[in-house]
Amino acid sequence: MQKTVEQFVLEGPQWDLSGEYPSPESAEIEADLAEVESLLERIEILNPQLESILSTVETLPAEGATALLDDAREINGLLEKAQVLLHDPEVFASCLLSVDSQNAPAQTLEGRLQQYAKRFAAACEPLSQFLDLASGSLVTAYLDHPTTRHAEFSVRRSRERRHEVLSLAEENMVSALSQDGIHAWGRMYGQLSGTLQCEVLLGNECQTMGIAEAAGLLQRPDDQTRKSAWSAINSAWEVHEESCASALNAIAGWRLEMCRKRSASQEVTFLDAPIHMNRMSSETLERLLSIAEEARPLAQRAAKLQARAYGKEALGPWDMRAPAPDLNKSAKPSTGIAFEEALELIADAYGEVNPEMGQFVRMVRDKGWIEGSVGDYKRPGAFCTGFLKSRSPRVYMTYTGGTSDVITLAHELGHAFHSWVMRDLPLTQKSYGMSLAETASTFGETVVRDALIARARTPAEKFDIAWEDILALPAFVLNIPARFEFEKNFYEARAKRPLQTTEIKQLMSSAWKNWYGDSISEADPLFWASKLHFYISGVSFYNFPYLFGYLFSMGLYAQQEKMGADFFPNYKLLLRDTGRMTAEDLAAKHLQVRLQDADFWRVTLSDLERRVDSFEELTNTLF
Ligand SMILES: [Zn+2]
Repeated sequence: MQKTVEQFVLEGPQWDLSGEYPSPESAEIEADLAEVESLLERIEILNPQLESILSTVETLPAEGATALLDDAREINGLLEKAQVLLHDPEVFASCLLSVDSQNAPAQTLEGRLQQYAKRFAAACEPLSQFLDLASGSLVTAYLDHPTTRHAEFSVRRSRERRHEVLSLAEENMVSALSQDGIHAWGRMYGQLSGTLQCEVLLGNECQTMGIAEAAGLLQRPDDQTRKSAWSAINSAWEVHEESCASALNAIAGWRLEMCRKRSASQEVTFLDAPIHMNRMSSETLERLLSIAEEARPLAQRAAKLQARAYGKEALGPWDMRAPAPDLNKSAKPSTGIAFEEALELIADAYGEVNPEMGQFVRMVRDKGWIEGSVGDYKRPGAFCTGFLKSRSPRVYMTYTGGTSDVITLAHELGHAFHSWVMRDLPLTQKSYGMSLAETASTFGETVVRDALIARARTPAEKFDIAWEDILALPAFVLNIPARFEFEKNFYEARAKRPLQTTEIKQLMSSAWKNWYGDSISEADPLFWASKLHFYISGVSFYNFPYLFGYLFSMGLYAQQEKMGADFFPNYKLLLRDTGRMTAEDLAAKHLQVRLQDADFWRVTLSDLERRVDSFEELTNTLF
């Protein structure tokens, strides 16, 4: 890729990783890995002590178990150390490979680390079973110690599902068989989607391309291009619909069977695992879905406004990621926003929330923690990661000066801020569920988008920026609930027997019609085949956390006005607690709201309604 003059002017900086390790082949990495090796050896010597008492640990009293508890705490301490030492080289290798996927020493390091990761996972198992199964008094005694007290939330949370745990032998067998069972179906889908080719009609020409490339065309401004790409992708999947249906039936069948096997003492349903993983209650999930129903007319209105901007009555299924229609191509200044300017803009907008947030953005730039350059071998996409030893975040993207790049930068800096306010917490309190993972990023994105709209000079510019904001509504409030409804209905039907492709198509079409109504011209009956999320073998219902995350962070944004000066300190404390509280407790403590009730969500909806109203005004002016 030859850089244009424009790119040189606009592109972002390269990040600085030298403070972490000098290189993937450095003595510092070897020293860390040697230490991991000796930590694992020690754990592997201690583990049999725990394993030997697992079958009786449920009734074992705390009295007289001092030696056992000492062992368990020592294992825990060793695991925590090993985790940090493994984490940083892993992040280092993946950062290097993101910038240059051909970096051979980084590839070698990544390969070596996979072996360590496997061994580490096996070393964790006995302690995790011990803590899940042990009697209440034994666990209380274990946690009542300066070295383990911080793990209280994660240990207790995990124990809520202890009734599901099978014997160690059974668990080991399930996990061994799952590699060529449930996970094999996921891999098959991955291979299929990676090699599948489709024929897209572009103008008068038919072009053959991979489906990922064709999916990229769904973001083109030209109506016909998007429609051709969508049709081509679906035709390609149609050939393999039987394979996809087999995979879907097998993945759901496996999970349903596991639920039955785990139901010995208490019934386990297919929604238990995803709800638990997202650290929320089924009550909150039900509320969330009923709020989505309340928001459905508003989201349909947003979809119809977008259709109108494209000069049609309703959106097609190929329009879900359509960009703002090009209003005045010739009049538009083509210069873009240079990286430095974007960074200052984000710092100012963040600084409006609180000066500390603005200072944070400038510090991240000054420390060289942002990778925003343009490069031939860079991986696409954007992410935020971080190093544990130095407690410093890194932001990765390719910055080329478009408005969407500014928003992406704001999004990733939101993640970075989240990790920054948590940087001094113990490891066990740093990981959070997917439902809360996008809180700070969506918040940061909204702050900056609103700032961009405020500084836009013409209605056309405002429209351009508001488009993505409005696009989010149907994406989260119609598409995600449709996916949830489909998946739930599918599992319920699959519990009786495997479903045929025509039945699966019907389930999908009716879910789409139920949520989109007349805001779309037709449903996407093959969406279950083309959407990767249904084939992630490690996680089910990879949909409602998106809905929760979106409405929760928009709700948080709406609270800003209400809480005034109290907002920021509460916001920071809320972010700090994301790894050691349930979503409900978090909201109750820091926002004084109950997520199980409608009130909090309804404030969010009225804020969203205001956004749709002003978008409608813009649409009326322009179309
Ligand atoms: Zn994100």
